[in-house]
Amino acid sequence: MHFAPLIGLLLWLGATGGVLADEFAERRQQLSAEIAALARQTAVETGRREFDPQVMAALERTPRHRFVPAAQIPHAYANRPLPIGHGQTISQPYIVALMTDLIQPQPEHKVLEIGTGSGYQAAVLAELVEQVYTIEIIEPLAVQATKVLEDLDYANVQTRVGDGYYGWEDAGPFDAIMVTAAASHVPPPLIAQLKPGGRMVIPVGARFLTQHLLLVEKQEDGSLTTQQILPVRFVPLTGGPS
Ligand code: SAH
Repeated sequence: MHFAPLIGLLLWLGATGGVLADEFAERRQQLSAEIAALARQTAVETGRREFDPQVMAALERTPRHRFVPAAQIPHAYANRPLPIGHGQTISQPYIVALMTDLIQPQPEHKVLEIGTGSGYQAAVLAELVEQVYTIEIIEPLAVQATKVLEDLDYANVQTRVGDGYYGWEDAGPFDAIMVTAAASHVPPPLIAQLKPGGRMVIPVGARFLTQHLLLVEKQEDGSLTTQQILPVRFVPLTGGPS
């Protein structure tokens, strides 16, 4: 008899959890629709009117609210970057969708991400490819992201603390590389760790000037083609040769 209130409480908590989960799923759907609308508006620049349905489905599954600080949870499904501490940000969802689409992820791919940050982009990639390697230079961010990715059972993500300018040589070469901080140039070690036929997406530009999101493709003969996709604004890639 003493257990009755406890059971009632547990049932209530269960129900609330369900309601919240549904609410977040609904907000993810709305966000997905906003991203699709933006994709159409930016089609002239990006060359794509819509993103791969698999990429959109991955965004609709990934719980962005789990990757932001508690105070930001109400904004987790707004289409904008949010602060995650240490002067860093979780990228705008539209940019996450665009960058993910640009690397054309395939289920058998091994992908390297530079700039783990919150771990959100790594989770989106983990929904789409076999193995994700991600490097973060700020240790507490890497620790927090690793914890969230583990709590959410993303078993195919490996996180490392270090300077991503130099890539992750032991784990390479990679089918795709995604850099989520702005570099002054495309780091040569990353080019070396990209497979022939591989794609790299990277914002390049000075800190307070316009940066451009670049798509770099390595041809089968090792030569590179580079396409400018969109002006963007990212936090700077630190590290590298001084
Ligand atoms: N992809 C992240 C966005 C991170 S913002 C997400 O989904 O949340 C960019 C991140 O790059 C920051 O956390 C910053 O600390 C990190 N960073 C900057 N320079 C770096 C470097 N040289 N190596 C690895 N990470 C770096």
